Amino acid sequence: MSEGAAKKEDKPRKFQAIRGTRDLLPPETALWNRVEQTAHSVFATFGFGEIRLPVFEVTELFARSIGADTDVVSKEMYTFTSVESALSRADAFRQYIGERRVMADQWVTVEDLQKDLQEFILEIDGSAKSDLPMDPPSQVKLSILRKGPEQLDSLRGFQGKAEYHEVFDSIVGNIQTSARWLRFGPSATLRPEATASVCRAYVEHNMQQLPQPVKLYYMGPMFRRERPQRGRYRQFYQIGAEILGGTDAPAIDAEVIEMVMTFFDKLELQGVQLDINSIGCRDCRPKYVELLRTELLKVKDKLGPDSQRRMETNPLRVLDSKLESEQKIIEKLPRIADHLCEDCATHYAAVKRQLELRGVIYRENWRLVRGLDYYMRTTFEVTAAGLGSQNAVCGGGRYDGLVELLGGPPTKGIGFAIGEDRLILSLLETGHPSLATRLSRAETKGHSPAPTRSGPLLYIAWIGEKAHATAIRAAKDLRNAGFSVELPPVEQKFGKALGQADKLGARFALILGDNEVAEGLWTLKTLADGSQQKFTEFDLLEFLRKQDSVSS
Ligand code: AMP
Repeated sequence: MSEGAAKKEDKPRKFQAIRGTRDLLPPETALWNRVEQTAHSVFATFGFGEIRLPVFEVTELFARSIGADTDVVSKEMYTFTSVESALSRADAFRQYIGERRVMADQWVTVEDLQKDLQEFILEIDGSAKSDLPMDPPSQVKLSILRKGPEQLDSLRGFQGKAEYHEVFDSIVGNIQTSARWLRFGPSATLRPEATASVCRAYVEHNMQQLPQPVKLYYMGPMFRRERPQRGRYRQFYQIGAEILGGTDAPAIDAEVIEMVMTFFDKLELQGVQLDINSIGCRDCRPKYVELLRTELLKVKDKLGPDSQRRMETNPLRVLDSKLESEQKIIEKLPRIADHLCEDCATHYAAVKRQLELRGVIYRENWRLVRGLDYYMRTTFEVTAAGLGSQNAVCGGGRYDGLVELLGGPPTKGIGFAIGEDRLILSLLETGHPSLATRLSRAETKGHSPAPTRSGPLLYIAWIGEKAHATAIRAAKDLRNAGFSVELPPVEQKFGKALGQADKLGARFALILGDNEVAEGLWTLKTLADGSQQKFTEFDLLEFLRKQDSVSS
């Protein structure tokens, strides 16, 4: 091997973020903070309090609430089991049993397997019941393993007989496969959304005893194994809010929508379009869905494979189709507005009136359905400019039965989730041109990092030990007064220091050399025009304060 090749091999591996996840870097993170701060303040004015939720929950919470047939639950969840420490020895045995070589013609290997199985069972029986496998498939595997030692005994009876190998394969194979696939502990899932968690928390903390309704908002990462593309990630961020309990008065639906629109307005989000619809309730929706299925059957041959599949699993989702060839067909399908029950129709009409009272501009979109099962009646979606095909920045709706489905009392509910990644993307594309170009340059080149922050107000160029001590004290005082200060850790020639100040985008350079320290008069250079002024320490602070109030 040549020396070069050896060196290459020794080089430690460079890691990259997993597909569909990404780092959020400065200066973009400043925008994220601004967006989140705006959410905190706008939501507070509507009487919402923040809830912070766990990032993972038991799998069943999501399966039951979102719906087992939805894309999210059936394909996109990140699920794992957690081995409790009490079971870690048993788990080690389990792995060993599953992976060891057991040979039909070496009986001693069968006996070893039997001994390990017995020990495994002893470990299991000695641990707390609550640590044992919770999901039914693991329960079945455990019962196979419990019968294992006895079955291996029965195998002795077949030794020397023609069918020995066949029975061996069946018994040992069954034991080893069960050991490999058995999982301890309840199955947990990284949250794909947060509404289910908020409802779980509402029930867990008996929030129905608080004055109703309870208004909560959250923000944080969500996880879905989707095909990554622009505006669609596997770890993405949502800002959402829920109103639980109290009435289902249409004014509640309208106010929650008004809050979303106020938030977008404050952020000056461009090209905002609000679509609303009513998807009926448990009484009227199933009848409409059946009618839709019947009508879809008549045109089945003209639909693409996705719609043909959805026609069976969830016909409402066919209305979501963006396929050009299906648009004319979909336009002729029956519309849910014509099939709402009286209560739903009245509720929908009142929501529209309430929106008008609040000056919220909306568009009715009969094809707006939501991908999650729990929605009913009011549904809404907001799209924004600059996002291409993934242009939905917010989705929401009413879900009156959800809390009950999760073991709570009958409770009204409505909420929304804003896709923060897309919201930021839209702001960058349309609202913040300077930031957007800087960021997209860094993004396309991949390796040239974007500037990590907006420049400091002041860069201290110091030379000499005495000046360093003064510089340290000056930096402390200036920072305490709220100014951003960059203090180089090692001495630099003035020319280099000024170059560095320029590169960082500083507005001023404070020059501290022996003369300045001796005189008690410091030199301040304005980098934009190169002009210089001398200040005492006190006057400098006053001057910077004035500058700051002029610029902000
Ligand atoms: P949902 O929870 O599916 O109703 O989505 C609500 C909002 O979250 C959507 O309108 C998107 O803005 C955002 N969103 C959903 N999935 C993703 C994803 N994989 N990547 C980025 N944003 C997403």
